[in-house]
Amino acid sequence: MVTEPAVCLAKIEPKPATLAAQALGWIDERTRAVAPQLHLSSTFLRDEDNQYRSGRNYARADNPAFDQPEHLLAALEKGEEAMLFASGMAAATAVFQALRPGDRLVAPKVMYWSLRKWIAGFASTWGVAVDFVEMSDPDAVRHAVQAGRTKLVWTETPGNPMWNITDIAAVAEIAHAAGAKLAVDSTVATPVLTRPIELGADIVMHSATKYLNGHSDIVAGALVTRAKDEFWEGIKQNRIQLGGILGSFESWLLLRGMRTLFPRVRAACASAQRIAEALQADPNVSAVLYPGLPDFPGHAIAARQMNGGFGGMISIRVKGGEQAAIATAANVHIWKRATSLGGVESLIEHRASIEGPDTPCPPDLLRLSAGIEDTGDLIADLSQALEAAHR
Ligand SMILES: *Cc1c(COP(=O)(O)O)cnc(C)c1O
Repeated sequence: MVTEPAVCLAKIEPKPATLAAQALGWIDERTRAVAPQLHLSSTFLRDEDNQYRSGRNYARADNPAFDQPEHLLAALEKGEEAMLFASGMAAATAVFQALRPGDRLVAPKVMYWSLRKWIAGFASTWGVAVDFVEMSDPDAVRHAVQAGRTKLVWTETPGNPMWNITDIAAVAEIAHAAGAKLAVDSTVATPVLTRPIELGADIVMHSATKYLNGHSDIVAGALVTRAKDEFWEGIKQNRIQLGGILGSFESWLLLRGMRTLFPRVRAACASAQRIAEALQADPNVSAVLYPGLPDFPGHAIAARQMNGGFGGMISIRVKGGEQAAIATAANVHIWKRATSLGGVESLIEHRASIEGPDTPCPPDLLRLSAGIEDTGDLIADLSQALEAAHR
């Protein structure tokens, strides 16, 4: 591993924003290149005495393209090790597939919809019992967790698409008391705002498609662990054997995106806060769901465990119901009507349409991902679209 000479000489403990901007400051010693190189080889030369002293033999198991983004993410999350995956779903499912038949797991009632659907199906075929609970209520979690039998508590905070807040420290304590691990989908919070491992979580998951990359041009996932224990080894074997690995070019793009993570997330948070406040005053909006609003149910916990902002994700409930919500999305000009989140461009989506008939998502809800455009433009575009939909 190459160290960051300037930072070492100054004896400064670099802040996360510095680590991210410089991608840990790694320099390729052979070429003195400041920007990382792209590693494409799928295979690695064996030594004459039949050893693999490089520690690598085949890129499904260990790809040098992962090294820098994985080390950077582990540093940002204060974890021992990170692993990249082909998508957020590949990362998350690798965790669940490390459970054994007969184990129990606890997950949120409302969470990233595709994953919730997959968990329900997986649990029944894999012989794992799953309890879906209201994760923002630690007592509900305490009730659901069975000592010695529950092996995993999974949460997502802020949770899609209502942005319910889980008290990570409280739920970690409950999980650990029962002998379970706590895994946190921290896609929306990002390590800029929250470091779940410092609050007691064992595993952090990201859809790196979203804020970590930030430019809506790759699909990627990541896990970070508190400790390289037996459970983590099982997850690692899942990545090697199931093969849900990220491509080399995508790894390179992800690292480039992560270098601007801090300014992007800070800009999105500042904008989202102003947008949420403006929407609260909009006569065509019946509710604004945003953890940064003082009357939001999880606000006090969010203020404690999110540092420097409440994220870039907002949902609104539109007066007039489903048709008015869809019409609002139809009338935007600057916001883009698209799924996903966490990119530099602002996105708007009618969630119930994508989640289908059994969704817990209200039909009048629009999900907003604030990008880094001019905030005034974003507010003006939304308010004219709301007005047009109610004309
Ligand atoms: C997008 C997303 C996922 C799934 O990630 P993919 O990269 O699309 O596979 C999981 N959790 C959250 C919170 C997400 O936003």
